Amino acid sequence: MIPSVMPTYGRSEIAFERGEGVYLIATDGRRYLDFAAGIAVNSLGHAHPHLVKALQGQAAKLWHTSNLYTVPEQTRLADRLVAASFANTVFFCNSGVEAMEGGIKLCRRYHHVGGNPQKWRIITFEGAFHGRSLATLSAAGNAKHLDGFGPRVDGFDQVAFNNLNEVRAAVTDETAAILVEPIQGEGGIRKADLRFLKELRTVCDEYGILLFLDEIQCGMGRTGKLFAHEWAEIKPDVVASAKGIGGGFPLGAILATEEAARGMTAGLHGTTYGGNQLATTVGNAVMDVMLSDGFMENVQAMGESLYGRLQAIVKMFPEIFKSVRGAGLMLGLECAVTGGEMVVALREAGLLTVPAAENVVRILPPLIIEQAHIEEAAGIIEKVAVAWKPDA
Ligand SMILES: *Cc1c(COP(=O)(O)O)cnc(C)c1O
Repeated sequence: MIPSVMPTYGRSEIAFERGEGVYLIATDGRRYLDFAAGIAVNSLGHAHPHLVKALQGQAAKLWHTSNLYTVPEQTRLADRLVAASFANTVFFCNSGVEAMEGGIKLCRRYHHVGGNPQKWRIITFEGAFHGRSLATLSAAGNAKHLDGFGPRVDGFDQVAFNNLNEVRAAVTDETAAILVEPIQGEGGIRKADLRFLKELRTVCDEYGILLFLDEIQCGMGRTGKLFAHEWAEIKPDVVASAKGIGGGFPLGAILATEEAARGMTAGLHGTTYGGNQLATTVGNAVMDVMLSDGFMENVQAMGESLYGRLQAIVKMFPEIFKSVRGAGLMLGLECAVTGGEMVVALREAGLLTVPAAENVVRILPPLIIEQAHIEEAAGIIEKVAVAWKPDA
């Protein structure tokens, strides 16, 4: 008999009752060190006092009015994102995939109003993940995700990741934009070379097309800067954000330059919930913490420390681990054994991580971790590696 919850996930039976910072406590009382953070969502850990206070305060006042009215909390969050980034304007939605869909529409519309309606195709990359809508599945081109859902949505031309020659060869008179994750998440923590990102900027400038970054997983402080593209010292035209931006409250955003957003006028795009009072109040509370002195420096320092610890573990257990990759607190432990089995073994030992492609165990702790959490996690990984039985 089909479960009442539609079985689209291979779920663990563990259920959590509450969270405390970097820890989750299951219904059976067991404590877990949470280096999964709800897939890079709980950027400030669980039950962060500042977020709880903001949410509770707003919950007693006003939840939602729709975007037919001015939402001051939304304006304030947009102002702050604009001040802190390349962007001049922000559209709020509820999830990553909505930010992606809106971003795709924005790119097409940009050329339409610029007198080039034939420019509507987007160059994308192998190994990408952009969400589960029909268009974003077609953008990412993962055959497993597309199977049985009818014809692909047209308008995406996929090339090899980090391959500039293929990008250049794929640009045509119909190209509207290049869409890339600065660090592929689901694809196995694969980094775009910083030079490659710079070169994409050059190609976009050369052909008058938009550089559209999917920073849903790698953005909002994950790499130790507000957005991962800042490491490449480039300015994109459009960025999709979600996950960490709400700290666990569903919130997404399209950030764009004034020029890129020139076609997005009244009535052309919308959302009922997007950017409502509850969501943007929490978003502002997340920003309060992320913009505070020393926050990004801590992410960078903890990222380096964790990277170093994981590298040492890889050296110690070459038959189990192959490499560490990623940036900041978006790290991947490439396994010589089955990555999914490693995630289960780590969980049984008290450490939560996330599987990804290429046998990579994703390590995505809350951005508030301290050195002691790194030591604890490393200790668990070592213990699991020592006890590892081939073909267990
Ligand atoms: C999670 C993710 C998405 C989709 O976000 P949802 O909130 O699940 O719709 C898109 N792109 C990237 C890079 C992601 O990590």
